[in-house]
Amino acid sequence: MKTILTGLRVGSELTLGNFLGALLPMVRLANKYSSEMNVNIFVPDLHSIVGPVDVDLRKNTVLSLKYYLAAGLKLNQNVHIYRQSYVPAHSEMLWLLNSLSTMGELSRMTQFKEKSAGKKSVDVGIFDYPVLMAADILLYDANYIPVGEDQFQHLELTRNLAMRTNNKFGDIFTIPEKTEDQVKFMGNKEGVRIRDLVNPEKKMSKSARSENSKIMLTDKPEVAAKKIMSATTDSVGKIQYDMFNQPGISNLLQIEALINDKPLQDVISTWAGETRYGDLKKQVASSVSAFLSDLQENVAAISDDMIYELFEVGEAYANDIADKKLLKLQKALKLR
Ligand code: ATP
Ligand code: MG
Repeated sequence: MKTILTGLRVGSELTLGNFLGALLPMVRLANKYSSEMNVNIFVPDLHSIVGPVDVDLRKNTVLSLKYYLAAGLKLNQNVHIYRQSYVPAHSEMLWLLNSLSTMGELSRMTQFKEKSAGKKSVDVGIFDYPVLMAADILLYDANYIPVGEDQFQHLELTRNLAMRTNNKFGDIFTIPEKTEDQVKFMGNKEGVRIRDLVNPEKKMSKSARSENSKIMLTDKPEVAAKKIMSATTDSVGKIQYDMFNQPGISNLLQIEALINDKPLQDVISTWAGETRYGDLKKQVASSVSAFLSDLQENVAAISDDMIYELFEVGEAYANDIADKKLLKLQKALKLR
């Protein structure tokens, strides 16, 4: 049986962009394939402590799982939910893979270059986390790892590490699918990028400084509606989808489509020929506030205990699979 694997960092609260661009597509993919594939949804809590943590990590871990369920994730015996730090094999595999990785290849990672540029002191974690990511993937023989473009290079690194290990020691790891096949599997070629509401040339980011730039999943619905009403637009005066010249308006059309699970094309047609930006904003503001109040109500209805029960079952499964894989490499390295 093939395996899909995904994780979402929990070091800060999630934005509407994270939800529409990462969480929701993952839930749809999981529901589509969980009858025929393993779906591993893990909380990368060890990754979450690399960089600033501005929430209570344990609370946010539970909350992130509630978002998956509130977004419609269907559970069955193929869906495995676990916390990375509760499966010690991740850390051990990281160390073994470190001994098979080079400074050169890790130094070439764009994310590392970007995150360390101009800094006097850089955490080792920022440098090494792609190897931990490889461990997360290879421990479970994962085939599909739905990630954004920013992680493609790390996926390639994972494939290289797996091939190198197999060349040296025989058949240890399953090689994850090539990036282009991952993209095909995900079915969203361009990848959705929700834009910053104040500076729509940029994508919405949780680390944006201005509160008006981003909608947090914990925002009060009326606060979120206000942010939409004050979103930056343009002076073209036509409601049409043109990300280059009208990123603000295009972003609103995109949000409206995704929240209501409508094809973007349908939303564009509905507004074609319209000129009053205020009307579009009112519509999107009402969609966003209805969406948030539903989501928050659904989340509130899920108990912490239910999430802990899922962790208990999922972590027993994950430890079993991961320990077996770890032992294989330990034996190859003559540690066992
Ligand atoms: P940061 O500002 O700290 O980089 P972020 O909001 O960009 O935070 P990440 O943790 O980098 O969030 O990404 C989590 C997931 O959300 C990734 O899969 C990423 O591709 C997706 N994502 C992030 N921002 C957006 C966005 N604006 N639109 C769609 N998807 C997004
Ligand atoms: Mg980011």
